[in-house]
Amino acid sequence: MIVGVVRETFPGERRVALTPAVIPNLTRAGFRVVVEAGAGEAAGFDDAAYAEKGAEIAAGRDEVFGRADVLVQVRGYGANPEAGRADLSRLRPGQVLIGFLDPIANPEAAAELAAREVTAFALELLPRITRAQPMDALSSQATVAGYKAALLAAEALPKLFPMLITAAGTITPAKVFVIGAGVAGLQAIATARRLGAVVSAYDVRPAAKEEAESVGARFIELPLETAGVEAGGGYARPMDEEFYRRQRELMGQVVAEHDAVIATAMVLGRRAPVLVTAEMVRGMRPGSVIVDLAAERGGNCELTRPGETVEVNRVKIIGAVNLPATVPYDASQMYARNVTNFLLHVLGGSGKPDLSDEITRETLLVRSGEVVSPRVRQLLGLPPVPAPSAD
Ligand code: NAD
Repeated sequence: MIVGVVRETFPGERRVALTPAVIPNLTRAGFRVVVEAGAGEAAGFDDAAYAEKGAEIAAGRDEVFGRADVLVQVRGYGANPEAGRADLSRLRPGQVLIGFLDPIANPEAAAELAAREVTAFALELLPRITRAQPMDALSSQATVAGYKAALLAAEALPKLFPMLITAAGTITPAKVFVIGAGVAGLQAIATARRLGAVVSAYDVRPAAKEEAESVGARFIELPLETAGVEAGGGYARPMDEEFYRRQRELMGQVVAEHDAVIATAMVLGRRAPVLVTAEMVRGMRPGSVIVDLAAERGGNCELTRPGETVEVNRVKIIGAVNLPATVPYDASQMYARNVTNFLLHVLGGSGKPDLSDEITRETLLVRSGEVVSPRVRQLLGLPPVPAPSAD
């Protein structure tokens, strides 16, 4: 079976789906790997490094699409709606596509993939179960984003992060507040701490307290009723608007007391909850910074504009998008390991997906001309799919 890797075409995307280091894992399992010339360049991996590890280099994109049985991408069509559209006509029936396909935000793209009669796996749909952790690309990339968010906050703040005791006097440390202590939030806490900031954190899931504290944050307790908020897998259930209103009210003072806010709160498959209002921003000290990691999902701050930095009352609101692409070398290595583990899991045995397996079944988006993911079918207004055949 031939695995194809092409250059990513999403604007600003510098990651690559496979790195040279993982090629032997695939060739040992009987796969051959074909890489489009230059595919890894922006991430720091040249063609020679792939060739040295046993991959073939193909001159052009069409050749990779033409030869590959399985295409692995970081942002496949759906997660790359404009530039990725050109690849639709390159796909042929029966070909397997694996990558981020953003099916919850862009279910129509899944329908278009179905029309091409490909078999597509969306890594966003991976269940957050222990067994799936080595394949969890959303989490590995969120870790990178959390790290980078702390650096962005440090860079934009007109203050130092660490406390300094110098002959020129004592500098007090910056105060950072992390909203949402999931994967990205925990890494943001750890990074801000390592830079010397004093870090506080809040999350609606009571279990997050211990995790946030273990990486060095002071956990802020808010008198909110959070029973039943835990949705499993580290996800929170959506709460009603009255809950968020009360949360904003209780958090107003906390936000005002901090120099930097890193917002990472999210609820699976929903628009990000708005937790920082324009009024709360006006209550912050001039020079303060908000890094909104939820920008792509509407933002945790009311004033966030995805991909832009807005300044209101001398408070900067950074609508951070696609941060993992700004650390492409390591983000690609992590993604490549995730996607290789996934590929070996799904196609490593008989070469045919085993639908009795939860990981395979949950991630399968499109097959035999149909969108098969129940969640995505629902978003498209389609009736439940008939029971899948065994092949
Ligand atoms: P996660 O599910 O691991 O963490 C989200 C956390 O938010 C959870 O712990 C959840 O309990 C918490 N939460 C939910 N509602 C909350 C509320 N009302 N108040 C406080 N906490 C609340 O998700 P993650 O992988 O850490 O990703 C976090 C966000 O970062 C997502 O929006 C994701 O899309 C985004 N992200 C952005 C980039 C980027 O480059 N901008 C990259 C990766 C991820």
